[in-house]
Order: sequence, then structure tokens, then C-alpha cells
Amino acid sequence: MDTVDIKRFAELLKGSRRAVFFGGAGVSTESGVKDYRSEDGLYNTVKQYGVPPEVILSRSFFESSPDVFYDFYYKYFLQSSAKPNPAHIALAELEKRGILSAVVTQNIDGLHQAAGSKNVFELHGTVYKYHCFRCGREFPIEKVKELKGGVPRCEVCGGIIKPDVVLYEEPLDEDVITGAVTAIASADLMIIGGTSLAVYPAAGLLRYYRGREIVLINRSETQYDSRASLVFRDKIGEVMQQTVELLGD
Ligand SMILES: [Zn+2]
Repeated sequence: MDTVDIKRFAELLKGSRRAVFFGGAGVSTESGVKDYRSEDGLYNTVKQYGVPPEVILSRSFFESSPDVFYDFYYKYFLQSSAKPNPAHIALAELEKRGILSAVVTQNIDGLHQAAGSKNVFELHGTVYKYHCFRCGREFPIEKVKELKGGVPRCEVCGGIIKPDVVLYEEPLDEDVITGAVTAIASADLMIIGGTSLAVYPAAGLLRYYRGREIVLINRSETQYDSRASLVFRDKIGEVMQQTVELLGD
């Protein structure tokens, strides 16, 4: 890792009071969360179910084959015992210090909140909340987890219980989008990590950023590399941890 860049990143953070972190799957994979979009995830899903993950995670598929949906969903989203990694922990620390104003994430695993982050906008929803598809009653994750991939049903009306996860074919939550846009539009530093920015609506949201400095941490190239003040190709956990350590007490 380039120590000059780490020092510059720390300086940018010191001068910031409204930094926003925008993160994708790469933040979670460093915690051991399985990425269904990865080559392995795609291959194994097609081999087992005959269709790619994007089809299983669609609204129409959920409605027509909830049994297959939940078999897949349990395996990828509920079975994991993933814990926050140094990136999640460093971001929570930055919020506590009054440097970071918000985390905007494409992940649904709740690891930012587990690390202590408070202002988190989960663009694609969360595996921690559920509601009955028919009567709207809310249910805790435990009720779904204990079925180990079986289809959870509402004990009041018998309807199927759906995760508060944004499925393909579904619109994003307006309040979440508004919150994310507001945070990004007033940000004085943008940190982007673990995302190639190819997934909707990532690139669109970043257009609201009016600040100058962008710090980009991703293993592969992105369309924002040329716009960024600093680009790291290292593990996001290591970059964030080392940078926050430089801030001192
Ligand atoms: Zn119900």
C-alpha cells in the first residue's frame, strides 16, 4: 500500500466534517459474505437451480416460486456468521468522531450497523426486516432463520412473508433514496469502496456530489478512477484501518 496516499487520505479526513461513504459488495466479501454476483456464485446457482441469481431474486420469481427463492436466500443471506471487518469498524469510528455523516450501501447484511454506524442508507434493503406480503404485518429475522430455507408464513392471515430486500423488478425505497441523495449532495468528501459502480443506481447517485475530493478503494478499475483524487487497489479493510490509525486520538 502507498503510505503517501494513506497520509493524504488521513489529511482529507481531518479536514472533513461531512464525508460520505458509498460502498458495494467488496466491503462485505472481506467479512466472508458470499457474493452471488461473483463467478462462483453465478456458476453454482445456475448449476443447482437452472437459473441465474438475478432471476431468483426477482419479484416475479419470488411470487411464483417462493420455495426456490427461500432455499437460495437462506444459503446466501441468512446462513452466514459474518462479522464486521476493519472497514466497517473504521467507518463507524469516523462517524463517532464527527467526520463521516453517512454510509450509503448496496449491501443488505447490516454489518455497518453491527459495527456501530448509525446513519446508514441501505439502497437495497435489509435482511433484518420482514413483512407479510398479504396483510403487511412485520416479522423478525429469527422467524425466517429458524425455517432454514423453508417458506415463512404469516400466522395471522397465512400470507407469505417477504424480506424487506429490494428485489429485481422492484423500485428502490423513496425515503432511502432521498436520504442518500441529501447526504451525498452536502458531502465535503466522498469515499467510494468495494464497488465497480456498475450496479444501478450507484453512478446516478454520485452525480449529486458537488465536492472536489473523491477517494476510491476498489480492487478493479471503475469509471470514476480518473475523477478521483486518490485511488487504492488494496483491501478496503486495510486502507480504512491504517488511515484511521493515522488520525490519532
Ligand atoms: Zn399476514
